[in-house]
Amino acid sequence: ITSAPNTAITNVTAATAKGRHSNVVKEVAKLKKNREERRQRQVELKEEKEAFMNIDPDNPNWEFLAMIRDYQSNLEFKPLRDSEVVEDHQITVCVRKRPLNIKELNRKEVDVIAIPSKNQVIVHEPKNKVDLTKYLENQHFRFDYAFDETCNNETVYKFSARPLVKTVFDGGMATCFAYGQTGSGKTYTMGGDFHGEIQDFKIGIYAMAAKDFFQFLKSRNYSPLNLVVTASFFEIYGGKVFDLLSDKAKLRVLEDGMQKVQVVGLTEKVVTSVEEVLKLINDGTNARTSGQTSANSNSSRSHAFFQIVLRIPGLNQIHGKFSLIDLAGNERGVDTASSNRQTRMEGSEINRSLLALKECIRALGKKGSHLPFRSSILTQVLRDSFVGENSKTCMIAMISPGMSSCEHSLNTLRYADRVKELDASDPVAS
Ligand code: ADP
Ligand code: MG
Repeated sequence: ITSAPNTAITNVTAATAKGRHSNVVKEVAKLKKNREERRQRQVELKEEKEAFMNIDPDNPNWEFLAMIRDYQSNLEFKPLRDSEVVEDHQITVCVRKRPLNIKELNRKEVDVIAIPSKNQVIVHEPKNKVDLTKYLENQHFRFDYAFDETCNNETVYKFSARPLVKTVFDGGMATCFAYGQTGSGKTYTMGGDFHGEIQDFKIGIYAMAAKDFFQFLKSRNYSPLNLVVTASFFEIYGGKVFDLLSDKAKLRVLEDGMQKVQVVGLTEKVVTSVEEVLKLINDGTNARTSGQTSANSNSSRSHAFFQIVLRIPGLNQIHGKFSLIDLAGNERGVDTASSNRQTRMEGSEINRSLLALKECIRALGKKGSHLPFRSSILTQVLRDSFVGENSKTCMIAMISPGMSSCEHSLNTLRYADRVKELDASDPVAS
């Protein structure tokens, strides 16, 4: 009596075990089949995308690339054309995106910047959800102009710095800033194209501005003024001023009783032709980068000032001034975490000067507001360009297109956005 149920139980157990076994086998087979199907599907998907969008399957970021292409396929691209009207603003803020370079192309860097129209920039920011699903956060910005990677320096110049030449001839103070992270194209835009180590200054904004100065000088409107053109070139490094046209002599900045700020002893050379200006740019650039191990080490941490001044002969008086400034790289967050004290100090000095600059430009746009020019040498030296009725400024914010620069590019765009908050009445590109 007692054994029967036992046997039964044993039998049941055996049957269950057998059933479980076959269930497990079935389950494993099912999983395996699923996995294979998934893999197959993924391969197909990848091939599909590849075929559709010409995406390199070895790109580790192909999913983001596919999402970006997909997003962009719904955009209408109407980039800036050279024939576009040049608008007149007291403050002009524009953005320039450089092309991906050979190195970036070789490491299959994904381009995360779109410039769909003459004044719009979209950053396709790659993001991961908590469950690691990838998605894009597409962030939109609007500026006075947006230059895509096909724009050359001439076009950038035409819409940014060129309108300011007239301001200077009309007795005004003008400034043009190149802002952005190191490697984004500030020096390329201001100074000109590099051929290896050699820079072709002729296509830089410094030289193009100088060329226009001599044109204006000869023109019917301005030749009766008999103005004299002079040029200076100096840099601000670690809060100190160095004369690039005089063996990097260290110069003092003084403010007189009238709140006039002077760089004492700054070399100011009279120039009468573009060739002379090019020579000065060459000498100054060589001085700027001499003694550096890498072209980027010190020059990325200094603000370079190229100034063209119009003087009234006989009088010790300035008629107008154009300051063209290649700013220090804005990626200083890294430095402030650096263990090297000097690097840290330089980093915070640069941060402070760029913040002060932003506030000063904003103050220029709002009459009667406080001008915090004393908070940095950069803004102190520029004081006379931020006061006065006839001051105009232009900022060219440079961005690198790569995914690895995304964070820095967003910082640059947010900064540029704050420099000039466009009001709702401004025309939006259609
Ligand atoms: P930054 O002065 O901002 O550190 P650079 O002007 O030195 O950057 O540019 C970094 C590199 O990118 C240089 O090799 C430069 O020739 C190249 N470059 C920058 N802008 C452009 C552009 N618009 N077209 C082609 N190459 C560019
Ligand atoms: Mg540079």
